Amino acid sequence: MQMYSLMKQLFPICRSITGAGVRETLAILQAEHLSGLNITSVPSGTECLDWTVPPEWSISAARITDESGKTWVDFADNNLHLMGYSVPTDAWLTPAELDAHLYSLPDLPDAIPYVTSYYAPRWGFCVPHSLRERMRQHTGKFHAVIDSDLKDGALNYGELLIAGESNSEVLLSTYICHPSMANDNLSGPVAAVKLAKWLLERPRRLSYRVLFIPETIGSIVYLSRHLDALREHVVAGYVLTCCGDERTWSFLPSRRGDTLADRAARHVLKHMNVNVTEYSFLTRGSDERNWCSPLVDLPVASIMRSKYGTFPEYHTSMDDLSLVTPRGLMESFEAYRRCLEIFENNGVWTTACVGEPQLGKRGLYPTVSQVGSAEGRVRNIKNILSYCDGADLLTVADTIGVPFSECLEIVGVLEQAGLLARQNK
Ligand code: ZN
Repeated sequence: MQMYSLMKQLFPICRSITGAGVRETLAILQAEHLSGLNITSVPSGTECLDWTVPPEWSISAARITDESGKTWVDFADNNLHLMGYSVPTDAWLTPAELDAHLYSLPDLPDAIPYVTSYYAPRWGFCVPHSLRERMRQHTGKFHAVIDSDLKDGALNYGELLIAGESNSEVLLSTYICHPSMANDNLSGPVAAVKLAKWLLERPRRLSYRVLFIPETIGSIVYLSRHLDALREHVVAGYVLTCCGDERTWSFLPSRRGDTLADRAARHVLKHMNVNVTEYSFLTRGSDERNWCSPLVDLPVASIMRSKYGTFPEYHTSMDDLSLVTPRGLMESFEAYRRCLEIFENNGVWTTACVGEPQLGKRGLYPTVSQVGSAEGRVRNIKNILSYCDGADLLTVADTIGVPFSECLEIVGVLEQAGLLARQNK
């Protein structure tokens, strides 16, 4: 499965927090990739924690024309042209009157900004600033038409439960509510699909909960229904977003900052030898706001490439399919895959041997002692034995500065040799 191809397929769909775009996106994921994806519908008006599920928004057309019939802005050209959740409109306006309903970015004069007004009734068009300046010069009136509908409907989300041997769970959460933008946000869902497919292909110690939700309201709705299960079972989790470009790496820790999810992410990124900016939880912006909130307190972090809010194309038409690359997506998948391998294999190994064991008689140590013979792998073997005193293997790996996967391989050898035994498997 090619993440980039799936992204191209999903890119044109006009998504919002509710509506046909979300359903179409979920239907594609279910029909073509994750047959076990369970799609839930929550009616508008449903009270969820401190929120209410909003009316469903649907949009069939929106454009700005003038008296000569010339089209200035057309939603059909780019779904970012319309402010998300715009109320229906059909009005003739002077350029000054229309300008109050236009959104643009003077610093990025060719970009269309992504603007929404989910919870207050408004309408607006988003345009390149260069076009807005020409519109201000127009003599005559504009005709703004928005053929939208806000009525009782439903909020939809997708949930894939992947059972493992244990009830302990990893939460992978991503959102599916942005219209045509790539790094934020289609990179997240396509990476989540790839990870889910990877998990489904192998035996699993842990269980996994993969969520495709509209951002913010989706995690609120989900918490309102599954809070107890999440609090009881989730041992680690990530919000998958902004993982598609290849310019940099970013890490957003959980609120607590030192959970298994945080430790695994830091470990993996360190051993990938990449430059990472570690952000503070104070700069959070996605569903970790809910997953990590005080009475929920889940261990959920986020590994990103260019983090939302920090790259110039963020929330504009410039966050397109040229910004995200197959390689950027693949590297992000690999980082997350390695974290999941840590969760699957982490554990506590202890030794029953008093003093350093004699490795030579077990074929684990060169029997000719000379300069250098205790380096490399032998050094790693001895270091692992020295620190397997009740700490988990991830802690041992961090202490001795060796990738978890290498430590795991050595622990397997030492287990075979009867020198280490896994506790509470
Ligand atoms: Zn966003």
